[in-house]
Amino acid sequence: MNKVTEMFGSKVFNSATMKERLPKEAYKAVQNAIKNGKRLDLNVADVVANSMKDWAIENGATHFTHWFQPMTGVTAEKHDSFISPTDDGHIIMEFKGKELVQGEPDASSFPSGGLRATFEARGYTAWDPTSFAFIKGKTLCIPTAFCSYGGEALDKKTPLLRSMEAINKQALRVLKLFGNNATSVKTTVGPEQEYFLIDKEMFDKRPDLLYTGRTLFGAKPPKGQELDDHYFGTIKSRVAAFMNELNEELWKLGILAKTEHNEVAPAQHELAPIFATTNIATDHNQLTMELMQRIAKKHGMVCLLHEKPFAGVNGSGKHNNWSISTSDGVNLLEPGETPHENAQFLLFLCAVIKAVDDYQDLLRISVASAGNDHRLGANEAPPAVVSMFLGDELTEILESIASDSSYDSKEKVQMKIGVHVLPRFPKDTTDRNRTSPFAFTGNKFEFRMLGSSASVSGANIVLNTIVAESLKQFADELEGKENFNDALHELIKRVIKEHKRIIFNGNGYDDAWLAEAEKRGLLNLKSTPDCLPFYNSEKNKKLFTDHKVLSPSELDARYEIKIEALTMVDMVNKDILPAIADFIKALSDSINSKKAAVSTAECKYEEKIISRLSTLSGIIYDRCEALDKSLIGAMDSEDALKTAVYYKDTVFKAMNELRLSVDEAEVITNRKYWPYPGYGELLFSVR
Ligand code: ADP
Ligand code: MG
Repeated sequence: MNKVTEMFGSKVFNSATMKERLPKEAYKAVQNAIKNGKRLDLNVADVVANSMKDWAIENGATHFTHWFQPMTGVTAEKHDSFISPTDDGHIIMEFKGKELVQGEPDASSFPSGGLRATFEARGYTAWDPTSFAFIKGKTLCIPTAFCSYGGEALDKKTPLLRSMEAINKQALRVLKLFGNNATSVKTTVGPEQEYFLIDKEMFDKRPDLLYTGRTLFGAKPPKGQELDDHYFGTIKSRVAAFMNELNEELWKLGILAKTEHNEVAPAQHELAPIFATTNIATDHNQLTMELMQRIAKKHGMVCLLHEKPFAGVNGSGKHNNWSISTSDGVNLLEPGETPHENAQFLLFLCAVIKAVDDYQDLLRISVASAGNDHRLGANEAPPAVVSMFLGDELTEILESIASDSSYDSKEKVQMKIGVHVLPRFPKDTTDRNRTSPFAFTGNKFEFRMLGSSASVSGANIVLNTIVAESLKQFADELEGKENFNDALHELIKRVIKEHKRIIFNGNGYDDAWLAEAEKRGLLNLKSTPDCLPFYNSEKNKKLFTDHKVLSPSELDARYEIKIEALTMVDMVNKDILPAIADFIKALSDSINSKKAAVSTAECKYEEKIISRLSTLSGIIYDRCEALDKSLIGAMDSEDALKTAVYYKDTVFKAMNELRLSVDEAEVITNRKYWPYPGYGELLFSVR
């Protein structure tokens, strides 16, 4: 099977396969379930399950699993085989409708984001028929949502589906006001995924990478990313082989892998699929991350998804391209051609502007993690301040509406919404400087603060819900108004005036912007602990309850920091200090033998290095002990916020100090003695 068209979707039980294999009635019932979110009746489910099983077995499967996304951000699966014993001691391969639509994993040890104590672990997984079943290895995977019997979300998919329903409901209310008869509205997402590929042999020699996914020590190599010669450069042959296999496996799973290129940092790459409905895009992104890691291993490499694997080298993020479209495939963030379409576009645009301003905190929270804290606000990723890029032209148009002045000085007419056509604004003046956290790129928004390893569900739960809230308020205000166009004009004017502080088209990496943002009253939540107090604010709790979406998972970065700190202590004590001591001894021996041979011989190099390394190993020893002690101080605070702040201010600070002295020692230690491959080898050894 070589042809891409044949390969595409070959491991997916998609509509085409269903149409081919299911009896007409069953096929219709499934399509109905997909379109209207209806449950399948058990008789039909039996038919579908049986046909799915036959197809899966023909394609090499022996097991099935309910595939779901617990709060941890990875995916979970528990495999059951299809076998079922018969009376005569044989087996048959069986898969019942009940097993397809509902499962009951023992989920007591999945984190629940504080929603649930482990003793009330009973929950069930339910098939999400909008996301097709697929085969991975020898297992038929059934995408499911996971909730408790009380209806609380125990995973990341349940709230995502609910947020999609929330925005569907409110957007349809608004569309109705424009006389639009769309039957449903869905948000769409295209996530651009960044990652690093390094040689597995090098990886295996680094306990920090092994345990934490990032390097905790490492001096800068002589060559870094200064030359920018990697970005969009020729893809090395081992990487190309990896990408080919990855694309093929993704295509088989029906994932629209489209664009791939080298990124800014050495050994860094990106993959972008063609966008899809949000829940499907989320499933696909999880699968993509999983496959990247598995296929890298086959090629003797390791795929690093950590947000900041190497200090001093750009980290990895994920750009979440997001839009809203109707069941007729109309993109609601596309400006359109007529005054009518323009008016509708402007209202949806304003819904996003208002949402981003009102819920800056939630958007920031949705991307907060220990890994991402290393990136946001550094000069490589958007700042921790949430703002919005609209481009100068669109911003001017909005300003002219808000101030009742004419946009185009030649035309002398004021823009009246619903009456005038929007002045054309060039699409390709979209934000190419990449410094904005939330940029309008012509017909969609690009949310650029996400970390590379995170599930995109958290950010999209927030996006969908906050925009649903704006739309709800708009619909409440506009419904029943006699003169719709006048009311619309006034509403849009007011929203622009009230929320224009969130719009910023300049350089987000500039310090001047941070000062300006503060003046505008925008939040600057620099790290995960800074986000915590906003997490459960009344305003945010109300939002999620009003729209019946449960909030995304709780933030807890401290475990990651703790594992990192323990790994550092271990590396220093077991490898780094002994290595330095060995090297000092070798240098000392060298002095002795030199002097024995020629008593007047100069030993400047040896002496200088011995004395610097001796000082450094003393400092390293002290700092390592201080780090170890700081961990003891971190224990047993009931107060999550206090603990988080302690980790950031005390433990993290001790880690950074320790690293400084270790990296200095690395630079002057004979390579043969240093226990780990350095940055140069890690970043440049894949050819
Ligand atoms: P860039 O690197 O310029 O940001 P890419 O082509 O790498 O652009 O990525 C753009 C992403 O946006 C792709 O995944 C694309 O499918 C996605 N996209 C395009 N239109 C939409 C849309 N209406 N909704 C969601 N995502 C979209
Ligand atoms: Mg992008």
